[in-house]
Amino acid sequence: MSTVHPPHTTTEALLADGTTVELRPLGPDDHQAVLGLHAEGMSEESRRMRFFGVSRNAPAQAADRLCTPRPGLLALGAWAGEALIGEADCELLDEPPETAELALSVADCWHGRGAATLLLEHLVHAARAADIRFFEADTLFGNRAVHRVFADLGLPVERRYAQGEVRIRVPLDDEDGERYRSAVDERGRRADLASLTALLRPASVAVVGASRRAGSVGRTVLGKIRRGGFVGEVWAVNPYAAEIDGRLAYPSVRALPAVPDLAVLAVPAGAVPAVAEECGAAGVRALVVLTSGLGADEARGLMRACRRHSMRLIGPNSLGMAQTDPVVRLDAEFGGAFPRPGSAGVAVQSGGVGIALLQRLAWLGVGVSSFVSLGDKYDVSGNDLLQWWEADGRTDLALLHLESFGSPRAFARTARRVTRTIPVLTVDAGRSTAGRRGAASHTAAAATPTVTRETLFRQAGITATRSIEELVEAAALLHAQPLPAPRGAVAVVSNAGGIGILAADACVEAGLTLPELPAELGELLPPGASVRNPVDTTAAVRPTELALFLHALEQEEGVDAILVCLVPTALCETPGHDPVRALLEGPALRRVPVAAVLLDQQVPVRYHGCADGGSLPAYSDTLSAARALAHARDRARWLAEPFSPPADAPDCDRRAARSVVDGYLTAHPEGGWLDPLSTADLLEAYGLPLTTSVWARDEHMASVSAAGLRRLGYEGRVALKAYWPGQVHKSAAGAVRTGLGDDAELRSAYREFTQRFGDRLAGAVVQPMAAPGVELLAGVVQDQVFGPLIVLGLGGTAADVLADRVARLAPLSERDLSTMVTELRSAPLLLGDGGAPPVDPAAVRSVLARLSRLADDFPELVEADLNPVIARPDGALCVDARVRLERRPSFDPYLRRLRRPAAVEGE
Ligand code: ADP
Ligand code: MG
Repeated sequence: MSTVHPPHTTTEALLADGTTVELRPLGPDDHQAVLGLHAEGMSEESRRMRFFGVSRNAPAQAADRLCTPRPGLLALGAWAGEALIGEADCELLDEPPETAELALSVADCWHGRGAATLLLEHLVHAARAADIRFFEADTLFGNRAVHRVFADLGLPVERRYAQGEVRIRVPLDDEDGERYRSAVDERGRRADLASLTALLRPASVAVVGASRRAGSVGRTVLGKIRRGGFVGEVWAVNPYAAEIDGRLAYPSVRALPAVPDLAVLAVPAGAVPAVAEECGAAGVRALVVLTSGLGADEARGLMRACRRHSMRLIGPNSLGMAQTDPVVRLDAEFGGAFPRPGSAGVAVQSGGVGIALLQRLAWLGVGVSSFVSLGDKYDVSGNDLLQWWEADGRTDLALLHLESFGSPRAFARTARRVTRTIPVLTVDAGRSTAGRRGAASHTAAAATPTVTRETLFRQAGITATRSIEELVEAAALLHAQPLPAPRGAVAVVSNAGGIGILAADACVEAGLTLPELPAELGELLPPGASVRNPVDTTAAVRPTELALFLHALEQEEGVDAILVCLVPTALCETPGHDPVRALLEGPALRRVPVAAVLLDQQVPVRYHGCADGGSLPAYSDTLSAARALAHARDRARWLAEPFSPPADAPDCDRRAARSVVDGYLTAHPEGGWLDPLSTADLLEAYGLPLTTSVWARDEHMASVSAAGLRRLGYEGRVALKAYWPGQVHKSAAGAVRTGLGDDAELRSAYREFTQRFGDRLAGAVVQPMAAPGVELLAGVVQDQVFGPLIVLGLGGTAADVLADRVARLAPLSERDLSTMVTELRSAPLLLGDGGAPPVDPAAVRSVLARLSRLADDFPELVEADLNPVIARPDGALCVDARVRLERRPSFDPYLRRLRRPAAVEGE
């Protein structure tokens, strides 16, 4: 098999201790380095383990072998700065087939830092892409280190023992990929945390570019760090000033008395690369770059310095960061006041939003664990922060404002995990443009109006809000109150009937329900009160009565949440008659969450301290309170969903599909729509049921094809579809003729096409007519935020008019397959509730599962539009499919690597 070519890409990734290394294929230029690794970097014992003997020539032979690129060999090196610290290679064997012999070396001084595992992961990735299915390796029985690496990898390992040696065999196309993915995830998480420590909990900080000028960014941040009471050392660096604020300043990072963990850069854009390089060379571990307006070269220079010297980076164009942990107390930002210590993690892309958010949290009285202004996000992203908060032991609420996502699929995956333990809330910024890119097909256009990003966020378990106010209002409830039961049945209680009705409307509009309450509860209230939900206590209710009533209400099984709306009436002014007192003197924490609406409150939301020491969130208006409750209910629902395994799509031929995709993109590097034949090949490889389609270049071939179809047993009529490259909707252009009976009809239809389309016409597709059924649309679109979405809707010519669609993040779970169908408005049509026989549910599920697998396996698939898929009681058949491909950097969301920001792409 000569299809194995070395990967051409260079990537950077983190070792277990947070060190950045570069991974790239070895080539002739690396000969010296590889020789050095084996001859000097490894002890005699290590060499014995690696080469099974102590031949003096072994290192030279290894270098010759590894540095001569040839088909069948994959050899990857890991570099820390200029030093080669390890290599992993595999070479195809003649026998057994699809098997490669694996070998690994890591320099002695880098042992125990996860280099071997990282190299192996990347080799697994490259080998899978090259269709290698097994690794085999001979290891010495006593080579514990290597055995541990294999045991922990997450892939199944088979071992055979013979004469002091162990032959290891690792199948790469592991059916239960989830175990490997989780193992990789877990290693990624640990490495990420290790690398972020210097950034988020530094022991010492330098502010580079702290000027003497009052009001300058550097000086402001320096002042804030000092006033904030940072626990470690702080130094100012400025080549033009010997002292700032009466304290010594140093001319350069090198001149500092010790190496700072973190450097905050507030230097002009042009100076950023050189200062970053200087920091890295001095041993600084992390950078926060406040400077904005970096040009492409400056961006690249900054990134190069960070990667080469293993520094994590916040910014550029960042407002800075704040760490409130009392053992750190670092206020390195120029946004506003140093936040009060607390348990909310806050990360924002826009500094302005950050300032607003921190201010509102401060008004509310919610403290912050750490705050990061991500700025242009060259490196550290919302994803990193989610992992940090998940593990920092201080954060129980994550608040994010993100405009774009570096690696959407990785984000969705992390978010799904993190929100299991802490609520993750986000302001959904830029929602108006979501899913609208390249909307040239039904599916893409379909995704826009009906598939809000809110629903997608919800699928990842994230609470998505539409404004900063809504975010804070939801956070206020989630932070201080228990979650309601997933059902979300709310009892609305008010002392003024009209307000109760408004609150009830708001609840219903937010998707909550109002259960009927038992009439006996009325006995606790004054005469004239009504216990129909909403409950009207009347203005005459006494605080003791209200307190008793609330106590009884929280015991009710049908009630999952309580919303109390109080209007100050003249009666309240009589001492002992203020119903608000009843609320505040009772417990804040009950069996079910409680929110208050106090109509005389001036701020949108605030906490009231209650007798039990808990906090009761009170809102100034009913809509906000209802919305907050609905968010809490959504979170409860999400948490209650049982785990559903990934949708099963057996017998997908990845290799065949790969060859279609690569073939097309080699011929069309700019990407585009596949022609009908390649479309059919691609779909067939993944078992998608496209109807028989025969390609005909001219009238004669069309006639022959139709006759051929009849000979194959198709008795009935045929469809004829004109094709030319770049065509969009065929019917609208008059390019589809269906139900053609005999040869004369077919030929006349073809001639019509020739007349109508002239030179444009490239040929036509002949298909048997499919039996009628329910016409569905199934497809794939790429969402800017979340990556591939799978869309299902009512299709055919009614597709646009009825706009009945659902979408889900890929990869789909088994449950997604069912809920997608049942969530359609036209579900009765499919399920047979409307009188017609039900369609075959397994056939529809299979189409969705296979599309999901295709989208997951091929990031190049930017759009797929199967419309219609004709669903019937005996199966489903697609009669029209369009697929658009684009070259994408090979992207495996499960491969550990540092992101390449768009600003420095194309290096
Ligand atoms: P387009 O979507 O580009 O307009 P289609 O190939 O989807 O073109 O054809 C339009 C409509 O014609 C379909 O929605 C379907 O109702 C009908 N149709 C097309 N091909 C067939 C076929 N082979 N069997 C039955 N109906 C077909
Ligand atoms: Mg169509």
